[in-house]
Amino acid sequence: MQPIHLFNTLSRKKELFTPLHPPLVGMYVCGPTVYGDPHLGHARPAITYDVLVRLFRSLGYKVRYVRNITDVGHLENDADEGEDKVAKKARLEQLEPMEVVQHYTLRFHEAMRLLNTLPPNIEPRASGHIIEQIELVKEILASGYAYESGGSVYFDVEAYDKKYHYGQLSGRVIEDLQSNTRALDGQSQKRAPLDFALWKQASPEHIMRWPSPWGEGFPGWHLECSAMSAKYLGDDFDIHGGGLDLLFPHHECEWAQNTAARGRGGVGYWMHNNLITINGQKMGKSLGNFITLEELFTGAHKLLTQPFSPMAIRFFILQAHYRSTLDFSNDALIAAEKGLKRLQSAAKAIVEIPVHPAAVAAPELQKYKEEVFNALCDDLNTPIALAHLFEVVRWVNTAIDKKETIHPDDRAALDTLLTSIPAEILGLCMKEQDASDEEALNGLMEMILETRAQAKARKDYAASDAIRNRLAALRIKIKDTKEGVSWERG
Ligand code: ZN
Repeated sequence: MQPIHLFNTLSRKKELFTPLHPPLVGMYVCGPTVYGDPHLGHARPAITYDVLVRLFRSLGYKVRYVRNITDVGHLENDADEGEDKVAKKARLEQLEPMEVVQHYTLRFHEAMRLLNTLPPNIEPRASGHIIEQIELVKEILASGYAYESGGSVYFDVEAYDKKYHYGQLSGRVIEDLQSNTRALDGQSQKRAPLDFALWKQASPEHIMRWPSPWGEGFPGWHLECSAMSAKYLGDDFDIHGGGLDLLFPHHECEWAQNTAARGRGGVGYWMHNNLITINGQKMGKSLGNFITLEELFTGAHKLLTQPFSPMAIRFFILQAHYRSTLDFSNDALIAAEKGLKRLQSAAKAIVEIPVHPAAVAAPELQKYKEEVFNALCDDLNTPIALAHLFEVVRWVNTAIDKKETIHPDDRAALDTLLTSIPAEILGLCMKEQDASDEEALNGLMEMILETRAQAKARKDYAASDAIRNRLAALRIKIKDTKEGVSWERG
């Protein structure tokens, strides 16, 4: 198996990756908190770890990929106080919290499908693992690194830091953290400001609550990932991934919880993808530059001049190394769209180059293949891998221009380089969107709307509503106006 080197956040250097139980790779990635539409920030980790899973599998590893759904315990501002993000949305929209969770989980899955990411092997929900989380709190209490206070349980950071090093993962120093944290007010149940909740007592108005040895409450946000990763991957597993925004406090606390309970962190490689900025600014609702994936796919956002296909977004994300920041702009996406088209056109044009067994073989094509794999195995360097694929694009275009004939082995190498590798490892659909597909859809829609009009004319409203609902499920909206019936996607 080709060796892979990965940058380990824990050691702060690239290391040769060796799984604990080859050929199995156990990988846990922090998934979304499901209280809003999936956005650009969700796309980057999803695509990064998707390429890593695909690469491992193409090299002959088996991967057990676990990505959680956070549906409880993630409070506003990622803090220990404040309203639960899911519960707040439920209150504002007058829904059951689990309705909010279901709605946004389905939206997330649909966006992930469009971005062509493979589903994880296990997708556990925090609310489905309350028992495991309570057990973990008991273990941490028993080892002396937590304390109960007024029906809540807090992690004792200072006690932990005396034996282990709090801040080890994120490279922070406890004294700096202490001086940068607000002092506790008289109301707090915590002993020290850095202590974080393992279990929170539920106030009377708190909806999502479970019984526990400490009274009715709910788990702290960091706890779920410690409990669920151990449940599905064991106390020791290979890779833990997530966005850089999760490094502190979420992953630091997760590492501390594991270490407090079992004497070791249990994660071999910590990987963090960097964040996406928008026109040089951090993405945020208050800045008005928050873009959902649906807005990208439909072009319905003031920063966009056109819709962008999920593949253009995927290609755009792969153009940067996952550890670099990636600045998003309308122009950058237009450039990505063009780049993807060039790659797709070259893949389609391979068949135009005549093949002959007597043709002289081109050894450089084998070299390109090696270079692409070397780049991907060097800490998932997708921009370098793409750069090599574009050398192949130029090779194809030159061969066509010069009306060259190639050896059958070269044809096979070109298929691998411009079809199999982009599709199977980078996850790019290599088929250009065909104008004839659009034509066929228009024709079908005309036919369906005619059938619906006929149903309405004979007052069969059940049939006409059924057609509308089926189309809505396919994300096709129909509008009845004075001028007639129109339809749109999205
Ligand atoms: Zn997590």
